[in-house]
Amino acid sequence: MDITIIGGGILGVSLGYFISSVSKSKIGIIEQEENVGHHTSSRNTGKVHAPFLYNPETKKTFAKAAFLGYTMWKEYSQIKQIPFIEDGVLEIAKQESQINILEKFMKWGFENGLTDKELILLDKNDLKKMEPNVSAISGIYCSRDASVDYGLLTRHLANDCIKFGCNLIFNKKFEKIEIDKQERISIEITDKRNGNHEQWYTNYLINAGGSNSINIAHMANTGREYFALYFRGDYWRAPYQYNNLTRHSIYSVPTFHNFPFLDPHWIIRANGSCEIGPNAIPVFGPFAYDLKTNLKSILPSISNIVGNKGFWRLCTNKDFLELVTNEMTDISKTKMINRVKKFLPSIEPRKFLYKGMSGIRSPLINKQGNFLSDTKIIENQNILHILNYNSPGATGVLPIAAALTAKIISKGIISVKKDYENNHGLIWDDSKITEIDIDLY
Ligand SMILES: Cc1cc2nc3c(=O)[nH]c(=O)nc-3n(C[C@H](O)[C@H](O)[C@H](O)COP(=O)(O)OP(=O)(O)OC[C@H]3O[C@@H](n4cnc5c(N)ncnc54)[C@H](O)[C@@H]3O)c2cc1C
Repeated sequence: MDITIIGGGILGVSLGYFISSVSKSKIGIIEQEENVGHHTSSRNTGKVHAPFLYNPETKKTFAKAAFLGYTMWKEYSQIKQIPFIEDGVLEIAKQESQINILEKFMKWGFENGLTDKELILLDKNDLKKMEPNVSAISGIYCSRDASVDYGLLTRHLANDCIKFGCNLIFNKKFEKIEIDKQERISIEITDKRNGNHEQWYTNYLINAGGSNSINIAHMANTGREYFALYFRGDYWRAPYQYNNLTRHSIYSVPTFHNFPFLDPHWIIRANGSCEIGPNAIPVFGPFAYDLKTNLKSILPSISNIVGNKGFWRLCTNKDFLELVTNEMTDISKTKMINRVKKFLPSIEPRKFLYKGMSGIRSPLINKQGNFLSDTKIIENQNILHILNYNSPGATGVLPIAAALTAKIISKGIISVKKDYENNHGLIWDDSKITEIDIDLY
C-alpha cells in the first residue's frame, strides 16, 4: 500500500475519500468491524454544530472546521439526496449568573465566522414566543445548525471511496507496528474471522482509530505524554407524545465549564424523533459499551494511565474528583432526565421507556493533568496520528480531511492525478481542497 488508514469511522473514510479522489496511489482503509461507522461515528447526537461554543483560541482547529463543515455537509447531502435538516439550535440560561456566559458564546460565535443574522441573543419574552414549553431566562438562537445521520453520511462516503479506487478492508484488527532500517512501515494485523495474523507494508500510515487512536499512537511510541479517559454517553428516547414539545434542539449553559459534556440536551434528530442525552459515565476502554467489555478493559486501561504524571495531577483536582464521585457515577435515567426537566418542566422521567444508543467520548489529558480542548495531530516517521478527535469532530471532518490531504500532497507523499476518470460524483477537486485553510500541525 502507498497509504494505509487505520479506522473506518467518519474520519478515516473522509480521508480515504479525499486522498483517493485526487490521487492514483494505492490507498487502503483497515477496519476491525464488518462495516464503516460502527463506533462513535454512528453513536452521537447527529448535530452539525455551529461554532459558538468553541473558544477560537483554545479550540481553533475544531472551531474553524465546524464553520467550514456546515457548507460542505450541506453540499454533499444535497447531491446525495440525504437529510440535512437546517433546524437551528437554542442554548439557554436558567440563572442570571449564566447570562455573561451566553454573551461570551456570542463573542466566540462572531469571531468564528457566524453573522448577527445567524446568531441572536434572546431575552425571556423572545424565548417564550419561540419555545413556549421552555423555562429559561435568556438564550442564544443559532439558525446555522443542522441535524444529520453521520452513520449514513459515512456509508455514502465509503461508497464514493470504493468508486475512487480506495480499498476498504473489513474484519482486520491492527495489532502492532514496526519500522525497519529503510524506514518502511510494517504493520501486523489479525483477521477477526479466523484469528490469522498478517504482515503488511505501507509507505505512509494514518492513525484514524477514533477512541482507540491514542493506544495506537503509543504502540508507535508517539504521544506518550497523553492518556485518555473514557466516558460512555447514553441517550433515552422520548415518547412520541413529546415530539412536538419544542421546535428546536435545546442545550443548556454547562454547569461545569471545564466539563461541558456533562449536561444532557433535548435533541431533535434528523428523522424528527426526540431524545435526551448524553450523560457521561466513566468506563475503562474505547469500546466499553457493555459490562463484559468494560471489565476486560480495566487492566490495560489502568496500566496505561497510572504511569502518567498527568493522571496523578488530575487526581489532585478537587472539582474533577467531586464530579467523578458525585455526578458521573450516577447512571440513573431519572437523574439525567431531571436535568433536562429543569428547562423543559412538562417532561416525566417515567415516560422514557426505551434506551437509545451509547457513544464513548475519549478526551486526552496532558502531563499537567489538563484536558486537551482541540484535536491533536502529530506526524512522526511517516505516521500521521489524529488524536483527541472528539466533538465536534463529525461536523468538521470534511474540511479537516481535505486540509490533511492538501498537506499530504504538498509533502509529495502522493501525486495528484488530473484526469479524475473514475471519480463520478466528485464534489471537491484538488483546487478546492488546497484552498481550505486550517492550521493543523
Ligand atoms: C456521545 C457523543 C456525541 C457526539 N455528538 C456529536 C455531534 O452531535 N456532532 C459532532 O460533530 N460530533 C459529535 N461527536 C463526536 C463525533 O462523533 C466524533 O468526533 C467522530 O465520530 C469521530 O470519528 P472517528 O472516525 O475518529 O472515530 P470512530 O467513529 O470511532 O472510528 C474509528 C474507527 O477505528 C476503528 N479502529 C479502532 N482501533 C482499530 C484497530 N486496532 N484496528 C482496526 N480498526 C480500528 C474502530 O473500529 C472505528 O470504526 C459526539 C461524540 C460522542 C461520543
